[in-house]
Amino acid sequence: MATLLVLGSRNRKKCEEIKALLGDLGLDLRDLTDWPDAPEVVEDGATFVDNARKKAVELARYLGQWVLGEDSGLVVPALGGRPGVHSARYAGKQGDDAANNARLLAELAPLPDDQRAAYYVCTAALADPTGEVRAVVEGRCHGLITRELRGNGGFGYDPLFLIPEYHRTFGELSPRVKHALSHRARALAQLRPLLRTLLGRSA
Ligand code: IMP
Repeated sequence: MATLLVLGSRNRKKCEEIKALLGDLGLDLRDLTDWPDAPEVVEDGATFVDNARKKAVELARYLGQWVLGEDSGLVVPALGGRPGVHSARYAGKQGDDAANNARLLAELAPLPDDQRAAYYVCTAALADPTGEVRAVVEGRCHGLITRELRGNGGFGYDPLFLIPEYHRTFGELSPRVKHALSHRARALAQLRPLLRTLLGRSA
């Protein structure tokens, strides 16, 4: 029987991406919709690593299962690193992508084009069923923030996140391209050999 790995998130789009990126490993990948009573982990860590570890540990202890905790966000150096760990609630309300994008555009509006560099960060922590963290990985993806929304693909800041080599945003690029380049793909690629060994599956 396939080993169960719980994705410690209620972000539907994020979970879809993780399932697409790890789907070939033969694991039983499930997200928290199967455990509606699982606790809401408070993301009060100072770093992406703190939050990813916290999600993995608290949920693994509660569920008694392997859990992948993932914390991610957008870093804009010209804004002192904001939105950073506050990416999901940058404009105030958790997960309001339209408001978050509007705030980002407004803050960057006065800055010249050469100050619009940004990168996504994805940190993933794998906890075993006792709540012990067995691995922490991080991936980054560099780009530029456009001056208007472009495309409907992806989620979050994707319609503003331009990949210069493609002259397109993640909102415009196909999932296939995003899955080849993204911070999440780069983080999870590091986890794949470990998942195969720890969870006894082969890809
Ligand atoms: P988390 O669920 O607390 O890790 O919040 C992640 C937030 O970072 C999301 O709500 C988005 O605002 C942003 N984010 C992370 N990864 C991506 C991505 O791949 N595309 C667009 N936005 C992202």
